[in-house]
Amino acid sequence: MIIDGKSMAEKIISEVEEQISKIKKEYNKYPCLSIIQVGNNEASEIYIKNKISACKRAGVISEVYKFNSETDENEVIDCIEQTNQNTKINAILLQLPLPEKFNRRKIMEKILPEKDVDAFTYSNGAKIFAGDYDILPCTPSGIIHILKEINLKLEGSKCVVIGRSEIVGKPLALALLKENATITICHSKTTKIKDICKKADVLISAVGRPNLITHEMVKKNAVVIDVGISRYNNKICGDVDFERVSEKASHITPVPGGVGPLTVAFLIKNTFTLFKNQYFV
Ligand code: NAP
Repeated sequence: MIIDGKSMAEKIISEVEEQISKIKKEYNKYPCLSIIQVGNNEASEIYIKNKISACKRAGVISEVYKFNSETDENEVIDCIEQTNQNTKINAILLQLPLPEKFNRRKIMEKILPEKDVDAFTYSNGAKIFAGDYDILPCTPSGIIHILKEINLKLEGSKCVVIGRSEIVGKPLALALLKENATITICHSKTTKIKDICKKADVLISAVGRPNLITHEMVKKNAVVIDVGISRYNNKICGDVDFERVSEKASHITPVPGGVGPLTVAFLIKNTFTLFKNQYFV
């Protein structure tokens, strides 16, 4: 079964839109997301366009602060600090990747944890580590949502996560652990990765390398979630050899149209959660 991430995402966005519209009528308040972009990364331009469009559909106000790659780091930090103080803005997204000369962690830590929509700051990371959080980074949230929507019993299942980034692999592994799955995390230094993958009930690849996951690496009837996005032969593709793996998997996400739309939907949902926390909790 090919998982339709687009329609799952649209359902989330329209549910949030309904709630926002009620709050707007009753309290004349609405959520606002601020996106901070540094540089002209081609993929980021597309992602931001999609994010703005989803905000519009949900009734979230969005604004983009764009800096060129020559900007001084302190200008970006000043912008974050002003956005922190602006009570009309509920959520801040620092679009990654930043140009190389920027210290990602230093800049990210300037975001107020209560406005940190991707739960990336150390204090939000600590909550995820403790299993006591109300938001997770958007991509892991989308993946957990997919697994629940297909009625997969995560408890007791063997999950293999390939990739250990702070924004996808690590928080995802912790979220799966919270669901009582048994987790193995693989990365570029993992040996015998094929043998590890073959044992997975759920195989999640978040690397960004086309055809990394071949059909020999997948157990029959496994669930395969492809997070990777790269360009290959002028086409957008994931990490998985979709043609052959889809013959073996019970469920598989396509690229595009799988995890990507859910990442955007959870940006909207997380923005709404932060907004509610700021006004109503
Ligand atoms: P990242 O920070 O570059 O992390 C990539 C991870 O892959 C690292 O942990 C790296 O290991 C591991 N890796 C690299 N080569 C490997 C190999 N041959 N075998 C096993 N592991 C390998 O990237 P990211 O931000 O997590 O993103 C990963 C991919 O997902 C990218 O393609 C990105 O565009 C995509 N993405 C998609 C969405 C979406 O919404 N669909 C959202 C976010 C990201 P080391 O740690 O050892 O270097």
